[in-house]
Amino acid sequence: MKPIDRRTALQAGAAFAAGSLAACAAPGVSRGTASGASERDVLFDVPRPFVPIVGSDAVFPVRRIYCIGRNYAAHSREMGSDPTREPPFFFQKPSDAVQPVPIGATIDHAYPSLTKNYHYELELVAALGGGGRDVPAAKALDLVYGYAIGLDMTRRDLQRAMGEQKKPWEIGKSFDHAAPIGPIHPVARVGHFTKGAIVLKVNDVVKQSADLSQMIWSVAEQIANLSQAFELRPGDIVYSGTPENVGPVVPGDVMLGHIDGLPEISVRVV
Ligand code: MN
Repeated sequence: MKPIDRRTALQAGAAFAAGSLAACAAPGVSRGTASGASERDVLFDVPRPFVPIVGSDAVFPVRRIYCIGRNYAAHSREMGSDPTREPPFFFQKPSDAVQPVPIGATIDHAYPSLTKNYHYELELVAALGGGGRDVPAAKALDLVYGYAIGLDMTRRDLQRAMGEQKKPWEIGKSFDHAAPIGPIHPVARVGHFTKGAIVLKVNDVVKQSADLSQMIWSVAEQIANLSQAFELRPGDIVYSGTPENVGPVVPGDVMLGHIDGLPEISVRVV
């Protein structure tokens, strides 16, 4: 195949930017609306990930999934870090990794490929209805639309192996269905969460048990910190970190997630 030269690439890019996609469209391509000012041909529909909202027929569209690492001291230590010296750090999962978990149901969650050490991490999730850059911590909770219970599922063996090689740990964290999440509870109904029990059971045995007040960086501080690195937008959700005693699940296990003030979520690994 002949390599494309820079001039041709630039011309093609200019044509694309000018909205001349129709010239490239294959027969039978339906006309849709892409994001942007004008209507353009869209090759195919890409589903927009969403999470149901409690007490509403509307759904919450997910733009980005941010996750903080090592945000409870005891979990930080079990991962081999010193919680007293580490500034917050974040990673992302793809937005279509969300797997909505209805209240009162146990959903099936497929054991993913490649791993032999698949871990749960139970977390409080903040869903943003506002955005901004350089948001001060004192104003950060104003951005929060609501909260949910989430699982930051992790292929721990792959995460660790990549970390040891100083490679991105993407494959350990950012895979299909890696973010089971209960419905979003609007702040107007449940308020903000700064304390309260967070408990994960597997097959009715308590595995993780801590208090939200033990977070090293509060949800407000996380949002403030994230907003220095990224412009936050409505639709962003923030997994606020897991307590200690993360551990493995295998097919057949049922994970039950509890946070005081929210209905539990139940997920069966299959
Ligand atoms: Mn996590």
